[in-house]
Order: sequence, then C-alpha cells, then structure tokens
Amino acid sequence: MGFDPSAFQGAILTCDLLMFSDLRSLSRDVHDCRRCPLGFSRTHAVPGVGPENARIMIVGEAPGQNEDLQGEPFVGAAGKLLDQLLRGIGLSRGDVFITNILKCRPPGNRDPQPAEAEACSPYLEQQLRLIRPEVVLVLGRHALARLLPGYESISRLHGKVVSKDGVTYIPVYHPAAALYNSFLMGPLEQDFKAVKAHLDRVEERRQALAVAATPVPKPEEQLTLFG
Ligand code: URA
Repeated sequence: MGFDPSAFQGAILTCDLLMFSDLRSLSRDVHDCRRCPLGFSRTHAVPGVGPENARIMIVGEAPGQNEDLQGEPFVGAAGKLLDQLLRGIGLSRGDVFITNILKCRPPGNRDPQPAEAEACSPYLEQQLRLIRPEVVLVLGRHALARLLPGYESISRLHGKVVSKDGVTYIPVYHPAAALYNSFLMGPLEQDFKAVKAHLDRVEERRQALAVAATPVPKPEEQLTLFG
C-alpha cells in the first residue's frame, strides 16, 4: 500500500479524538495504525509493554532495528543498560511501563520528525491517562522536547523533578547516549538514584497519610482491645 499525504493530514485530526478503555485496545489500534508514513515502512509497531498499574512510565525516542523486528521496546543494547539501571534501584522491567514517543521505527534510525511525533502523540497521551504513573522517566532530548517543550536542555534538566499538568516527570540521559559517550554513565546512574529518592518520598508521604487517616481508638475502645 502506498502512502497518501492527504490521508496523513486527516488522520491526525481523527487520531486526536481517539479514546481507549484499556491498554490492550490501544495496542491493537497502534498495530493497525497508518497515520503517518512510518506505518508503511515498519516491520512491527511497538506500542509499549508493562502493567496498567505501573508506578513508573518510561518514555524513549523510537523503536530501533531490534525493536522493529521483535515488536518490543528497548530490547537491544540500550535496553540491557536500562534493565541494569532499573535493577540498581530495586526494580525490574515487569514493574514499569516502557514506551516511546514514536510507536514505529524511523527508517535507518533517523531522528523522529515533528509531524510523526504529532501524529503519534494521542497514543502517548492515552497511555498516560490510563496508567496515571507516579513518575514519567523522560529518556533523552527527543522525548524531553516532546513531553516538556520549552523547558531546559537535557544536560541541565536531567535528574530533576518537573511537574506539569498534574504529571511528574524526571528527565534522564538516554541509555544509548551513555553507551556512545561513557562520560554520561555516571550522571545516568545518578539520575536513576534521583528517581529512587523521588519514589521513596512518594511512598513516605503515602504512609504518613495512611497513618493520619487511621482513627485513634477512644480510651474505652482501647480497654476492649487490650483487655
Ligand atoms: N529502543 C527503544 O525502544 N527506544 C529508544 O529510544 C531506543 C532504543
């Protein structure tokens, strides 16, 4: 099937109106998606993987060759490093939801184009709405430009907690960038420590609220309880 640019424009509007009741139906739609030219060149679409109740959502750039072949995000070298970083803060892949700004591979792993990111953005918005994660890890400059437009560069913002429209984000260096530039490995590990510190703070707050909400028994009830 050839690519028809007029269909592309119309589809962006249609896509804005998409609503999904769960991640499974969203994934099905991504697998059928032809809203931009990447839908015609991909091997497999890569909607994302992970539980709908994940506390953490990880957003990368776009599927690469391995991801395109397997239909799963972060299965190559960058994925192995991501797994290692998650293990370092006591998490595994099964604890997090992982996806990308683009759900299909740009040919030759070129940078995502703005029109592609725009066409794909309703899927990410819906994933955010369905999962409502406690924190979104923004991997690298492309995801940062898309999720936090107008904010500082990744080199300034990495490891910092940013709240926007009711969502908490922590931008971190992209694992692939750290594989190419070994001097980024230390900062990337520190970024993940910042993520752990944030999750610990959220958990402490949750526990303090639970204690505050527990009714204190009246003295006569305490007598009944403890004899
Ligand atoms: N694999 C992905 O799925 N996304 C990236 O950004 C890089 C590798």
